[in-house]
Amino acid sequence: MQNSPIDPKEHETIAVIGGGIIGLFSALSLQESGKQVILIERDEIGGRQAASFGNGCWISPGAVMPISYPGLWRSVPRFLMDPNGPFSVRWQYLPKLAGWLLRFIWAGRNWAQIEDQVSKRLPLLKQPVQRYLQLGTEAGVADLIRQCGAIYLYRSKKELEDDQRGWDLRRDSGVSLQILNGEDLRQIEPDLSPDYQYGVLMPDAAMLTDPGAFCAALAKLFVKRGGTHLKGEISEFIFNGEKLTGLRTATEEVRCDKAVIAAGIWSKKLAALLGDKTPLVSERGYHITIADPDVQINHGLMPADGKMAVVATTTGLRLAGQVELSSVDAPPRWERAHIQLGHAYRLFPKLNAAGKTHDVWMGHRPSTPDSLPVICRSKKSPDIIYAFGHGHTGISMAPDTGLLVAGLVTDNKEAEKLSENYLARRF
Ligand SMILES: Cc1cc2nc3c(=O)[nH]c(=O)nc-3n(C[C@H](O)[C@H](O)[C@H](O)COP(=O)(O)OP(=O)(O)OC[C@H]3O[C@@H](n4cnc5c(N)ncnc54)[C@H](O)[C@@H]3O)c2cc1C
Repeated sequence: MQNSPIDPKEHETIAVIGGGIIGLFSALSLQESGKQVILIERDEIGGRQAASFGNGCWISPGAVMPISYPGLWRSVPRFLMDPNGPFSVRWQYLPKLAGWLLRFIWAGRNWAQIEDQVSKRLPLLKQPVQRYLQLGTEAGVADLIRQCGAIYLYRSKKELEDDQRGWDLRRDSGVSLQILNGEDLRQIEPDLSPDYQYGVLMPDAAMLTDPGAFCAALAKLFVKRGGTHLKGEISEFIFNGEKLTGLRTATEEVRCDKAVIAAGIWSKKLAALLGDKTPLVSERGYHITIADPDVQINHGLMPADGKMAVVATTTGLRLAGQVELSSVDAPPRWERAHIQLGHAYRLFPKLNAAGKTHDVWMGHRPSTPDSLPVICRSKKSPDIIYAFGHGHTGISMAPDTGLLVAGLVTDNKEAEKLSENYLARRF
């Protein structure tokens, strides 16, 4: 009898760098494709350092629209002049950010570009809620997912019409939508101010009620399934020619055959070590969570005027939004978190935030100019796979990103083809 040859790929060890939502879904999907996986995170998984901790909690299959759009350039002077607007650029960092800003505006220069970006975002938003439910159930935290839908809110018909093209694109992409009038809104959201006259309901969206706890539970599930969780900061890649053989932290060497870089905004530094220059900037965002606000909401909400996610979490009413372009290391400007309270008072006349506990947080959206992530192999070696740059929608895109990463690691042809949408060398 002949022995069948051993396929060395069956025994490969894959290291995933970064324990945010993208690293976690990647690690779990890799396990499902039969790999030994080591998850390396320098901090606490589910901790405040990660964008995956303090975000707006939306898992939205309708998150197909890119951030840059035609005519946005006209607003740039306002962004520069108003440090408290929903989108602001801090002057002193402008020289470093100018290149990214120009690319960002260029990415949204006409509707043909937007349609192209929408078509490339869609495969990353196939059925995110179902995958969250599947893994959430296995991890014992399905109760942290609220299948309640999400509503964009408008004060006037004009405001709604200004967004019409985006809604048409969503509908044409297969996103379920329902237009609501003021009366509908009052019935399903009784605490909402009568100033809001129109809404667009996306019934298929769901909310995480505690994204940090959800991440921590996924990490536990990963270990329970046989994965190795290592605490450490990766600072070096070890190669034998083109072949990756390991990674290095300050104190140890981690042997692996392949690695996935899923380190959020900090991926830029790691990709640079491999010779890939990626235009990734931090679109800093803030949240403020009010404990016992005396307001009840039944959906995820997004007022068009305030541009912030409003969501019921386990610790209170969370308002999450604002875009601040500065640098990763600049100190937070906490007044930006508090600005959102003003919007919340306009939304909910009976809101009572005075004297209540407020939790404020600042985090880094890892953003590319064209609102498409980088999910591909590195220039230096096919053994290293990038999975970063999910900007405003990493919570929603994590499930399909994880599956794509597993497809790339296992040399799946369809995954290779799909990843052409998200190449680092497109920049
Ligand atoms: C205010 C705000 C609201 C948002 N709202 C939503 C929303 O409603 N819906 C949505 O879909 N998205 C939303 N987002 C975006 C979403 O939060 C991000 O896209 C997503 O969390 C990015 O996940 P990540 O895993 O790539 O990065 P992160 O969550 O930042 O995780 C990266 C991890 O890598 C670790 N790390 C870094 N370097 C190293 C290293 N060298 N070695 C080891 N570990 C390392 C870090 O410690 C960190 O834990 C929001 C973001 C913000 C800021």
